[in-house]
Amino acid sequence: MTQFTDKNVLVIGGSRGIGAAVVERLAADGGQVAFTYAGSQDAAAALAEKTGAEAIRSDAAHRAALVETVASRGALDVLVFNAGLLVLGDPLELDPDAVDRMIDVNVRAPYHAAVEAARQMRDGGRIIVIGSVNGDRMPFAGGAAYALTKSALQGMARGLARDFGPRGITVNVVQPGPTDTDMNPADGPMANDMHSFMAIKRHGTAAEVAGLVAYLAGPEAGIVTGALHTIDGGFGA
Ligand code: NDP
Repeated sequence: MTQFTDKNVLVIGGSRGIGAAVVERLAADGGQVAFTYAGSQDAAAALAEKTGAEAIRSDAAHRAALVETVASRGALDVLVFNAGLLVLGDPLELDPDAVDRMIDVNVRAPYHAAVEAARQMRDGGRIIVIGSVNGDRMPFAGGAAYALTKSALQGMARGLARDFGPRGITVNVVQPGPTDTDMNPADGPMANDMHSFMAIKRHGTAAEVAGLVAYLAGPEAGIVTGALHTIDGGFGA
C-alpha cells in the first residue's frame, strides 16, 4: 500500500507498543515517518532500523522541547499523539507528582503538540490522539486520574476540530480498550478482570489499533472529525 507516499508523518511516543505499530504501519504504507521517545533508546533504534523512520529523543512532558520538536518537522500531513502514562491506585495513596506527570504527558502535551502541528500543517492534514475507552467507562477503582486524562482528550478533539476544520484538518481520538503492550500485557494480573467487561474476551493487538489510525490518517477519512473512535472488544458497550 502506498497511501502515505511522501506524506510527512510525526508520531509522538513511537518507540514501543501502539505507537511503534503506528510507525510500522504508516512507514510500510509509504510515509516519511519520524517518531519521538523518552527513554527506550534501544527499542527506538531497532524500530528506526526496521522501518526507515527517524527516531528523535524528546520528552513530551517538557513543553518547550515538545513544541520545538513538532515545529522542526515543518509542514506535517499527519500528527499522531500516542505517548501516554498509566498511573493507577488508591487516590488517597498515589504520589501526586506521578499523577501530575501523567497529566503533563497525557493532556498538556497532546494539546500543545496539536496546536503547534497546526501552525504549519498542510490543508487536509490529520491530527489523531490516542485516548482510551476509559475516557468513557472506568469500571474499576483506582483509575480516576487516568480516566480524567483520557476524558480530557474528548473535549480537546471536539474543540480543535472546530478550530482547524476550515482548513480541512481533521482531529480525532482513537480509544483503545485493553491492548497487548508493555503497559497492559495480555498475560498481566488484571487481564481476566478486563476480559470480563468485554464482548470479545481478549486483548486487542497494537497492529489492530494502528489499522484504525491508518484509516483516520488516510484519504478516505477527510470528513471524519471531532469524533471518538473506540476499538475495545466491546469493553464500553
Ligand atoms: P507503552 O507503555 O507500551 O508505550 C508507551 C510509548 O509512549 C512508548 O513508546 C514511550 O516511549 C512513549 N512515551 C511515554 N512517555 C513519553 C514521554 N514523556 N515522551 C515521549 N514518549 C513517551 O503504552 P501503550 O502502547 O500501551 O499505550 C500507548 C497509548 O495508548 C497511551 O496513550 C495509552 O494511554 C493508550 N492506551 C493503551 C491501552 C492498552 O491497553 N495498552 C488501552 C487504552 C489506551 P519510551 O519508552 O521511550 O518512554
